[in-house]
Amino acid sequence: MKPNLISLNAKDVEREELPVDVCIVGAGTAGLSCAIHLARLLEEAGDQDRTILVLDKAEEVGHHTLSGAVMDPRGIAELFPDWKERGFPVGTVVEDDWAEVLRPGGGSIKLKGLLCPPQLRNHGNHMISLNEVVKWLGGQAEELGVEIYGGFPVAGTRFEDGKVVGVQTRDSGIAKDGSRKATFEPGMDVSAEVTVFAEGVRGSLAKNLFRDLDVMDGRNPQTYGTGIKEIWEVTPEVGKEMHGKVVHTGGYPLDMKSYGGSWVYGIAEDKLSIGFVIGLDQTDAKLDPHALFVQWKQHPRIAKLLEGGKPISYGAKCVPEGGYFSQPRLHGDGFVMVGDTGGFLNAATLKGIHLSIKSGMLAAEAIAKALAAGDTSKEGLASYQESYEASWAKAELWKYRNYRQAFTKGLVAGTIDFAVQQVTGGRGLVARRPGHSDHETMEPVAQSRLEKPGYDDRLSMDKLTDVYLSGAIHEEDQPAHLLVNDPSICTDRCTREFGNPCQHFCPAAVYEWPEGSTAVTINASNCVHCKTCDIMDPYENIEWVVPEGGGGPKYLGM
Ligand code: SF4
Repeated sequence: MKPNLISLNAKDVEREELPVDVCIVGAGTAGLSCAIHLARLLEEAGDQDRTILVLDKAEEVGHHTLSGAVMDPRGIAELFPDWKERGFPVGTVVEDDWAEVLRPGGGSIKLKGLLCPPQLRNHGNHMISLNEVVKWLGGQAEELGVEIYGGFPVAGTRFEDGKVVGVQTRDSGIAKDGSRKATFEPGMDVSAEVTVFAEGVRGSLAKNLFRDLDVMDGRNPQTYGTGIKEIWEVTPEVGKEMHGKVVHTGGYPLDMKSYGGSWVYGIAEDKLSIGFVIGLDQTDAKLDPHALFVQWKQHPRIAKLLEGGKPISYGAKCVPEGGYFSQPRLHGDGFVMVGDTGGFLNAATLKGIHLSIKSGMLAAEAIAKALAAGDTSKEGLASYQESYEASWAKAELWKYRNYRQAFTKGLVAGTIDFAVQQVTGGRGLVARRPGHSDHETMEPVAQSRLEKPGYDDRLSMDKLTDVYLSGAIHEEDQPAHLLVNDPSICTDRCTREFGNPCQHFCPAAVYEWPEGSTAVTINASNCVHCKTCDIMDPYENIEWVVPEGGGGPKYLGM
C-alpha cells in the first residue's frame, strides 16, 4: 500500500480540528446537489443543527468546473421542480441538432433527422455554462446553511480502524525547496461522520480509495477521454446561423482505430462552444489531444465557422467513459462517492450533469438515513447503492453498459456491436465486455503515426496561447504538484520505449523535453488540472496531487 497523500503535509505541527457532520470534497454539481438535498432532508427531520461542509480547491466555486455542455434537465428538475422560476442559468434551448462526418480532404456528410444517431439527438435540452450552474447551486446551498470553503484543497483522507473519519486539507506556504515560508499555514484536520468524495474525474483521494480498498473489486478499470474546449466569439452571420444548434462531428482527424469526436454548440448569438474529445486508450505514444483539436479546427468545415472570430476561453478535462461496469461500489465505511468520481457519465449521449445531480441526491438520502440511525458504517450507507440500482440513473447507464468497451477494437467493430446493443437492451454481442487501464495500451514510439499540425496564432493557437486563455495560475514558489515517483524511469526506459509521451499528451505544455536535455522540465503553473498525465503515463510514474489553495485554471462562462 502506498502512503496516504496526507504524508505530503508537515508532520511536526499542531493542526486545527474542525468537527462537522458531513464533509463534501468538491463543489461541483454532484457535491452541491448532495449538500442541498441533505440540508433539506435534515431540516424536514428537525435535525437542522448538523453541519454540512463543502471544501473546494478553487478559490471561487465554478473556477475549476468545465463541461461542453448540453444538459438533460431531468436531474435539475428533480432537485428543484421550480428550477426555472428560481433563476437557474438556463442557457440556450436546443432548437436543432445533427451529426456530421468530416471527410479527410474537406467537406462533410450531414446526418440529420432520422439519420442522426438517436443518442446524439438533443432537441429541448439546454446548452449551459457549468461554471454558472455550480455558482448558482453554491448560492442555493449557502441559503440552506451549507458552509462552502473555497481555496481549500484536500491533501488526504483520514482513517481510523479502517473507517474514513474525515480529511486533512493541504498545508500552504511551503517553498519549492520544501522549507516553510513566513506565510506557512498547516492544513486542518476535518472530522466527519460521513465524507462525500465529489472530486470530479480521477480525484486524487478517490484514486487512493480505488487502490487501497475493495471498491473496485469485480469492476472494469475506468477508461477515460480527454476533452479540449474553447469558446469563440464569432461573426454575426455565423452566430445567427448556429444559435440554438447542436452539432457533433466524427471522422477527420481520427483514423478508424481511434475513439473520439467533437462538438459545435451555438450557445449565444455571438458565441460558439467548440470542443474535441479523444479516448485515452488510443495506442499512439505521440497522442496529443490538443494537436488533434487544432487539426479538427483546420478542417474547412470548422474553419469556415471560426473565420473572422476569436477565441476567448480555453480549458481541458478528462471524462470517465467506462460506464456502468467501471463504476466503483459507491459507499464504504464512513464515505460515499458521487458524480464523476463515481463514474456517473453516459459516454454514448455525452452527458453526465443530470446523472451527477441524481447521484448527489441519492447519496444525500442515504446519509440522512444513516445519520438518523447513528450508523455511518458501510452497512449503514448501503441504501445509496440500493437506491441507485433501482433508479432511472442506473437504467440509463445499464442501457449503454457495453457501449464504450465495444470500441476498443476500432470504429467498425464498435459500430457493429453498438447496432446489436440497440436491439438487445444494451447487451450487444457479449454479456459483459472486459476493460483495461488506458495507459496499458500505449505502443512503442517507433510505431507512432501522428504528426503535429502547423499553428497560425489565428484559428490554430499553440498550447501556451491557450493556457493563457484558461486563466491558469499557481503560486510559483511551491513544490510541483506533479510528482514523478521515479525520475530514472523517465530518462532511461521512457525515452527509449515511448519517447516521453508526457510532452505530447499534456494539453497545457507542462512537461518539456528540450532537445538534448536529460531531464524533464515541469512547468507546473500551466496545469489546468485535466488529469491526463495521471491516467496516461505508461509506467504510472506521474501522480497528480493538489497544489496550494487557489492554484489552477480560472474558468468563466465555460
Ligand atoms: Fe493535465 Fe497533467 Fe498537464 Fe496538468 S500536468 S494540464 S493535469 S496533463
